[in-house]
Amino acid sequence: MKPAPALVATEHIVSTVCPLDCPDSCSLDVTVQDGRVTEIDGSALNPVTDGYICAKVRRFPERVYGADRLLYPAVRKGPKGFASFQRVSWDEALTRIARKLVDARDQWGGEAILPYSYGGSNGLLTQDTSDATLFRRLGSSRLARTVCAAPTSAAFQAMYGKMASVAYQDFADARLIVVWGANPSASGIHLVPHIREAQRRGARLIVVDPRTTPLAKQADIHLAVRPGTDLPVALAIHRYLFEEGRADDAFLAAHANGAEQLRAKAQPWTFERAAAEAGIPPDALRQAAELYATSSPAIVRCGWGQERNRNGGSSSLAVLALPAVAGKFGVRGGGYTMSNSAVWGITRDWIRASDPPTRIVNMNQLGQALLDFNEPPIKALFVYNSNAAVTSPNQKRVLAGLERDDLFTVVFDQVMTDTARYADVLLPATTFLETYDLARGYGPISLRLARPVIEPTGEARPNADVFGELIRRTGLEEEGDPQGELEEMLDVLDKLPDACAADLRDQGSATPVHGGRPIQFVDVHPLTHDGKIDLFPAALDTASPCGLYEYQPDPATAEYPLALISPASERTISSMLSELPRPEVKLLMHPDDAAARDVSDGDAVRIFNAMGEVRCNVQVGTWIRPGTVVLPKGLWRKHTANGYTATVFAPDTLTDLGGGACFNDARVQVAKTVRE
Ligand code: SF4
Repeated sequence: MKPAPALVATEHIVSTVCPLDCPDSCSLDVTVQDGRVTEIDGSALNPVTDGYICAKVRRFPERVYGADRLLYPAVRKGPKGFASFQRVSWDEALTRIARKLVDARDQWGGEAILPYSYGGSNGLLTQDTSDATLFRRLGSSRLARTVCAAPTSAAFQAMYGKMASVAYQDFADARLIVVWGANPSASGIHLVPHIREAQRRGARLIVVDPRTTPLAKQADIHLAVRPGTDLPVALAIHRYLFEEGRADDAFLAAHANGAEQLRAKAQPWTFERAAAEAGIPPDALRQAAELYATSSPAIVRCGWGQERNRNGGSSSLAVLALPAVAGKFGVRGGGYTMSNSAVWGITRDWIRASDPPTRIVNMNQLGQALLDFNEPPIKALFVYNSNAAVTSPNQKRVLAGLERDDLFTVVFDQVMTDTARYADVLLPATTFLETYDLARGYGPISLRLARPVIEPTGEARPNADVFGELIRRTGLEEEGDPQGELEEMLDVLDKLPDACAADLRDQGSATPVHGGRPIQFVDVHPLTHDGKIDLFPAALDTASPCGLYEYQPDPATAEYPLALISPASERTISSMLSELPRPEVKLLMHPDDAAARDVSDGDAVRIFNAMGEVRCNVQVGTWIRPGTVVLPKGLWRKHTANGYTATVFAPDTLTDLGGGACFNDARVQVAKTVRE
């Protein structure tokens, strides 16, 4: 028998943390051999993520060393939209970018420059540090980062001041769990075992989702609502609570404003009316309301699925208001779980320039901005931490904008994304395994230092370094500006709230408030101006196009009757990692809808509406409700037969609150075809 190979002397395990756009912020053990990452696994340092990680990040070495990795700066040689580039030095690339930015500002004004970024890393160093300083000093257009979480954020801020959430670990104490608009089996996986544990202890589970998600399969009640109808469903539960004497009047009197206005808005929504709108059995809705009213502790896990439509802001408000009206706070395992990103009190006052009073461009309307803006037109686009070609609504207009010959585009990314193909200058970015960062969980209350575990691959450089260099090359440097990534990190550490800065310096992680397991209305309270819950925020009522809690009807037409949703999958983080091999992408469709169109499992279909078309094969199954079809979020253009993805159908209209994306307002038709 051959002896086992000796452990190579250079193999070692480095501890770091995952800063990607996921609630959980796992602590990681990364195995490095001869300077290369060979394995990524969870570590026990973060007790919530408990030593295991998702399959997505296990594959991250394939991204670091994959064929699509950007290794050198490059300039475009062929037409826009094709991966035809020529390597140049960093000096040449940065000189060209700095000159183009300054030229655009001098000729057209700073607003002709548009920085475009979102969540490619959620780390505190990777966004809103030297990048923000550069663009503020240039006086560029300001980007409203609204592609995700904008409506829930607006609702959550106004109603509770983003009061901290019930911890994952405390779900086990609940007698009832309501998972609304979330699929933790795909995003934020560490919640799932706690829900299972609660069920083992006898807790009941309600899931509100158009899909039969893994948790929906195990639920006592699954409300498979039609996309965009969460608002009437939640209002019907409020109506029941108020009308049947189940509202906690004493709690509301002491701790909330606006209960009477919410009650009035809920009044028209009987179970029958709401159920008819949502396409669910009224009895199931009644049972869900009764179960919620009579269970304690009861917790609502409010996700982001209910926000991705015209009613998204009011839907989120109505869901988040449930524990207040039903009096579910004050006990461990009772209340809500939303985002915990605000609990550290971090205000990003390390950005070394004030926000200029320049125009705001909503990122969900990138196509409009690139094609229609004239005063001034966008002449320079700088894309980083983002892949707009496949993530921004109205994909055809976005691509048409990116094709403009007179638009100078920089893409600073880790791999050759669909957006990178439109770049005039490409810059290679480090991954989180090659750089420092500060990772803040928005599920578990955690804040940890991420450290490089390997040297940068190729000539990749961190964001802080590159934007700092551009500040210098555009002549915008000021005394005291950080010089490079490490100085930037120390500057950020200096400006963090005292409560977390010292811990991060001493031990690489901050101590979570209340041990990371606060009881709502015992340990934490609303951070609103008067310390009360605002069930009917006046400012949001004014901002909403038809007033708070007013339902905007389904946009379906006889021509385009099917609601198309594009939820997160277990394969990608938004579009990140979509460069990696995956099984064939198929449209998911209910058997009734398939039969009505003479479509069988495996058939080639065209999905279409007036905005565009996607060609792919179909998978028929009952895990999606009738009248709704599914394409995964985050596909790249290579994944469909004709190079378009679900965003081609997403209108660039905005949600009622927060300027969010209306992905789930896409209405389409499907027809059988022959695959090309
Ligand atoms: S993506 Fe989420 S679950 Fe996966 S390793 Fe990162 S934090 Fe953990």
